[in-house]
Amino acid sequence: MDGKKFDKNTLKTLVIAASLLLNCILGGASYTYYHHLAEQMNETASLQSQVSHLEDSVSDLQAQADESQPAIDDLKAQVASLTEEKNGLQTQVDTLTSQKADLQNQVDTLKAGASSGSSSGGSSSDSSSVPAAYSSSDDQSETVYVTDTGSKYHSAGCRYLKKSQIPMSLSEAKRQGYTACSVCGG
Ligand SMILES: [Zn+2]
Repeated sequence: MDGKKFDKNTLKTLVIAASLLLNCILGGASYTYYHHLAEQMNETASLQSQVSHLEDSVSDLQAQADESQPAIDDLKAQVASLTEEKNGLQTQVDTLTSQKADLQNQVDTLKAGASSGSSSGGSSSDSSSVPAAYSSSDDQSETVYVTDTGSKYHSAGCRYLKKSQIPMSLSEAKRQGYTACSVCGG
């Protein structure tokens, strides 16, 4: 009898203990689950606020893009007009370049005429014979400079020509006994 009673009590205790334990586990589990759910809900809310924040940013950017569209159009128009201006300037540069070449030719012709004129005694009336005279008497038509005191002839711009410079043709300088300057080469 004692053993049976003990067994009953023990069983009762075990059942209570088991149910308490089960309650604890279930309660803990449900608390954990609830806690987890709450965390997820918080996370969801935070994500939703992030999304709405991003949506705000997107609409801001859209507004900015809409706002800057006229500016972009303005810049495009400016680029187009500047390109046109550049093309115009390029044409002018081309024109001026060809004009410069023409003028250079004229300068060369005038130089030839001046040199020829000094060597041929000032007969500059016949300009068509100038290039021929220039090329056939290259040595004689070259102008050099002598000084009051020196025995050398110089090219224009030589430092020895600061005090005095007397222009004459190279052939005349040679004829008078002048020799080439060692600095400028005559
Ligand atoms: Zn010299």
